Amino acid sequence: MTDEAADKAVDNCLFCKIVRKEIPADVIYEDDTVIAFRDITPQAPVHVLVVPRTHVSTVNDLEDPALAGYLIMTAKKLANELGIDESGYRLVMNCNEQGGQTVFHIHLHLLGGQQLGHLI
Ligand code: 5GP
Ligand code: ZN
Repeated sequence: MTDEAADKAVDNCLFCKIVRKEIPADVIYEDDTVIAFRDITPQAPVHVLVVPRTHVSTVNDLEDPALAGYLIMTAKKLANELGIDESGYRLVMNCNEQGGQTVFHIHLHLLGGQQLGHLI
């Protein structure tokens, strides 16, 4: 991708717009690295998206192990703060079409607050 194409991807990206506060979201946590907000179409009583501030399109493009770890550690902390750590929760990151990805800025789904069905 050219620098120009990369800039355009970031300009048009839904989650970059939420990071830049151009689109409203129900933000429950943010710091210098990530922002976490409630999913607009929740699939469980708790459905939060943990999103890096920097634009990374898919897991295939993820190069920073520290960032990958930070997403998980943030989700873990939020699960505790939201009171679902002991009952349990699920962390999901979809990749590309067959993985069910619809927004091409990586995000970790934090799902809980009810019994979740088995996926695998
Ligand atoms: P994916 O399907 O890419 O793994 O997940 C994208 C998620 O983003 C979906 O669960 C969808 O409901 C959520 N989503 C899509 N648009 C918006 C939005 O404008 N605001 C919020 N908060 N969530 C969104
Ligand atoms: Zn983005």
